[in-house]
Amino acid sequence: METIKLDRSASEAVDDYWEYRRIVGDDDGGKLFTPKQYEEYKKKVIPQRMENRLYVSFGVPGGIDCKLIGPETLCFCAHRYKQHKTDFKVVPSERPLALPCPVRGCLCVAYQYVPRIGPNQVRCRCKHLPEDHSEATGHLCNKCHSCSGYHSPYTCGCGQPSSAHQTLIETKQEREARGRPTGRDVPNAAMGGLTGFSSLLDGYLALEACSSDPGREDGSQQRHSGSGIKKTSPQTSHSPHCKREAHQH
Ligand SMILES: [Zn+2]
Ligand SMILES: [Zn+2]
Ligand SMILES: [Zn+2]
Ligand SMILES: [Zn+2]
Ligand SMILES: [Zn+2]
Repeated sequence: METIKLDRSASEAVDDYWEYRRIVGDDDGGKLFTPKQYEEYKKKVIPQRMENRLYVSFGVPGGIDCKLIGPETLCFCAHRYKQHKTDFKVVPSERPLALPCPVRGCLCVAYQYVPRIGPNQVRCRCKHLPEDHSEATGHLCNKCHSCSGYHSPYTCGCGQPSSAHQTLIETKQEREARGRPTGRDVPNAAMGGLTGFSSLLDGYLALEACSSDPGREDGSQQRHSGSGIKKTSPQTSHSPHCKREAHQH
């Protein structure tokens, strides 16, 4: 089998680039830091990140973590977790902890995970998509007046309705107190709830992709559920966990 050979310095440059991306995320505003800026950034941000990492999960209080949020996971506001404020010099003391979205023009004040069925959004009881609702607190519908705020009819793989779930943002101490894994300390930006490779494989995504959806309009992509998760975990696209089709209506 042929393998593409990069000479050592080229492959090191690629590794350096990915390390840069994992650490800096979007903090460079799309313009690569100079080596000096990068060193300064690392000196300032990494110790703070090791100290103040926040863990993000989605679940029913007291239950399992149905979904662990990673850097690419979308918020209700349609921006990714990594686009929200995730680094703190001092973690605010109020709970629930709200991570606002600093993207210009976005009214999101708190990162909030919204379950999807593979790549598809789940329509509200009012029949409109999440994106038809305001990202501001209350999530009122922009398309109708009968809606009192986005409410997903989706039932999670854990058997509980979506509405019983919450997006939980917690410190390492808080997560340890709940007896949940916290992984090892990493310098990467916006790791959210990912604490190891098992965060991606542990059945949460598989459950999510395989569980039933009363609001679903198009079943054709269900078997290829990898499309929504391929980016982070190609291995799950033919998941052996997909045995839950009995739930299908
Ligand atoms: Zn946003
Ligand atoms: Zn948001
Ligand atoms: Zn509506
Ligand atoms: Zn609605
Ligand atoms: Zn659940």
